[in-house]
Amino acid sequence: MGEIIAIANQKGGVGKTTTAVNLSAWLSLLGCRVMLVDIDPQGNTTSGVGVDKDVLEYCIYDLILGNIEIDAVLRNNILEKLDLIPSSIELAGAEIEMVGVKNREFILRNILVKVKEQYDYIIIDCPPSLGLLTINALVAADSVIVPLQCEYYALEGLGQLMNTIKLVQQSLNKELIIKGVVLTMFDGRTNLSIQVVDEVKKFFKDKVYRSIIPRNVRLSEAPSHGKPVMVYDRRSRGAELYRELAREVMGVE
Ligand code: ADP
Ligand code: MG
Repeated sequence: MGEIIAIANQKGGVGKTTTAVNLSAWLSLLGCRVMLVDIDPQGNTTSGVGVDKDVLEYCIYDLILGNIEIDAVLRNNILEKLDLIPSSIELAGAEIEMVGVKNREFILRNILVKVKEQYDYIIIDCPPSLGLLTINALVAADSVIVPLQCEYYALEGLGQLMNTIKLVQQSLNKELIIKGVVLTMFDGRTNLSIQVVDEVKKFFKDKVYRSIIPRNVRLSEAPSHGKPVMVYDRRSRGAELYRELAREVMGVE
C-alpha cells in the first residue's frame, strides 16, 4: 500500500530538502501516515523538522550499518502523522563503509520494506550526489520526484540523473518510475523563470507538476526555526503552494 518516493537531484540547492520537508508535512496534515527519511549527511531535513542532529543517540547511519533496529532510531509524531528517521554527519562515512557490504544497493530497501505497510508515503530526501546513498534511495523507491530550480542551469546535469535512473530501472529496480518534476524558486517577475518553466515542460511534458513553488522568504526562514513552512506561517505563499503540490501527489486535485 505505502508508496516510497525519493526526492532526487544531484545538484545542491535546488529545493530537495525544502520539498521533502514540506511535502511530507502537508501529506501528514492532509491525513496520510508519512515517514520522512533523511539520507543526506548534512541532516538539513532532520534539523528542518526541529530535531537536533548533533545530540542524536542513533541515526540512519547506525540503521544502514545494521547496528540497530528501526524502532531505536525512529522519531514518532514529529507532526500529526509524521515520523522521521534522522541523519547526522556520521553518515558521511557510510558510503565508503557500505562498499564492502553484500547487496550494498539494497540496504535501504531491505530496511523500509519491513515498515512500508504502516505508512501511506515514505519520503526519502537524497544527498546532492549520485553515489551509493542516492542509489539506495532509488532502489528502495517506487517513484522519484525531481526538483528543478527555475534558473539558467536548471537542465544542466539532468542527463546524468536521467541516466542513473535508467540504469537503476534496467537492473536494480525495474518498477521505478519518475513520478513528477517540481519547479522550485520560481520568480514570476523574471523572464528567466518563465523561460525555464517552458523549457522544462517541453522536456518533461505532463510529468511537470502544475504547482510551481515560488521563491518565498518564509520557505527559507522556516528551517532555522525547525518548522515546516505551514507551521511557521500557514498563510504564506510557500505553504499554500506546497499544499497544492501535496494534493497533486495524492492525486486529489
Ligand atoms: P537542496 O536540498 O536541494 O540542497 P534546499 O531545499 O536545502 O536544497 O534549498 C536550498 C536553499 O534554498 C535553502 O536555504 C532553502 O531554505 C532555500 N529555498 C528552497 N526553496 C526555496 C523557495 N521556494 N524560496 C526561497 N528559498 C528557498
Ligand atoms: Mg538537501
